[in-house]
Amino acid sequence: MIESFGILASMLEKVGLAALVILTYRAILRSRLPSLWSGPAIGVLFSFGAAITMIDPLVVGPGIIVDIRVVMVGLAALFGGFWAALIACIVAVAVRISIGGAGMLPGTVSIIMAAVIALVFVRIRGSRRDLGNLALLGLAISLSLSSVLLMPLDFVINTAAKSLPVLIVRNVLGTMILGYLLAMEENREVEHNTFKELAERDALTGLSNRRALEVLERRNPNHDTTELFCVIMFDLDHFKTVNDTHGHSFGDAVLARFAEIISRRIRGSDLVVRYGGEEFCVILNDALLSNAARIAEDIRQQLAGEVFGGDVTVTVSAGVAQSSEDEPSVYPVIKNADKALYEAKRDGRNRVAIHAE
Ligand code: GH3
Ligand code: MG
Ligand code: MG
Repeated sequence: MIESFGILASMLEKVGLAALVILTYRAILRSRLPSLWSGPAIGVLFSFGAAITMIDPLVVGPGIIVDIRVVMVGLAALFGGFWAALIACIVAVAVRISIGGAGMLPGTVSIIMAAVIALVFVRIRGSRRDLGNLALLGLAISLSLSSVLLMPLDFVINTAAKSLPVLIVRNVLGTMILGYLLAMEENREVEHNTFKELAERDALTGLSNRRALEVLERRNPNHDTTELFCVIMFDLDHFKTVNDTHGHSFGDAVLARFAEIISRRIRGSDLVVRYGGEEFCVILNDALLSNAARIAEDIRQQLAGEVFGGDVTVTVSAGVAQSSEDEPSVYPVIKNADKALYEAKRDGRNRVAIHAE
């Protein structure tokens, strides 16, 4: 009875440790450390995880302990890269040496092997956090169990060999469960930031600000190359003169109205961003260049037909460009649209120019 309680208590301790690791990982993600520091911070976190598991291990023989330190070191490499793996490895080795005992040498070797294997694994297979990759990582770091060969032969045959399958299963399951929970935490954090950034709207026009483009770029890191998109860059003509002649708040009203004109003309799946003071960037998803040019022209005409404050008209110039299969990223297309916009300005303003390859 007491024994079962002991097993339960030990299990709860492991769950507690996992929860602590996950919560700390979330805090690291939230703190938005520069990437230079996040690797070491993750390393410190997994060192702590490895140290705790070694302080409260399963004792299989005098001085011989079994725990999930290699899982911690492996996950450090996957989630934090080189520095994280190195820090976790050094701390884990130091803790293992300080514990001492007959298993000290193979224990230390297993930690170093796990760190090297995990880093090589990440190098070859990338740092994807799906269950398949996590399981493979767990299996790969289990190669570190071969360090048991440094123990006397009778121990290897009589004790270690019997527990080998269970230890491999434990490494694989440990890596999968803890890795999956950490990856979920990461996804939640990315989603949280995405919504937060999209919610940060420009107060005057109610449009997304420039950071929405970064979110767009990040959301689609592999860029679905089958779906081409177009970019329209708008820049109001002689807007400085409009401000100088009619006042800044008059200019503001024009900007707000222009944002409304754009928003009404595009689809919900498109994105309008206030790119600069009087510059607007429109991303038209899954659109042909000819459609984008027509939309830009409609918007240009509509603004030209508006009368502000009784007798003032304002015009806009636009540049249009399309993504290509070799250039699926947003920023180069914006640059091309900007080049076309420059042409439109140079050719006399109040017109739409198309970027030609
Ligand atoms: P161009 O036709 O070459 O674009 O001439 P421009 O005068 O529009 O060009 P420029 O980019 O030099 O000037 C932009 C002006 O837009 C400068 C600034 O006074 C005005 N502007 C920028 N942001 C705001 C804003 O939030 N409100 C108002 N009212 N004006 C703004
Ligand atoms: Mg401008
Ligand atoms: Mg302008």
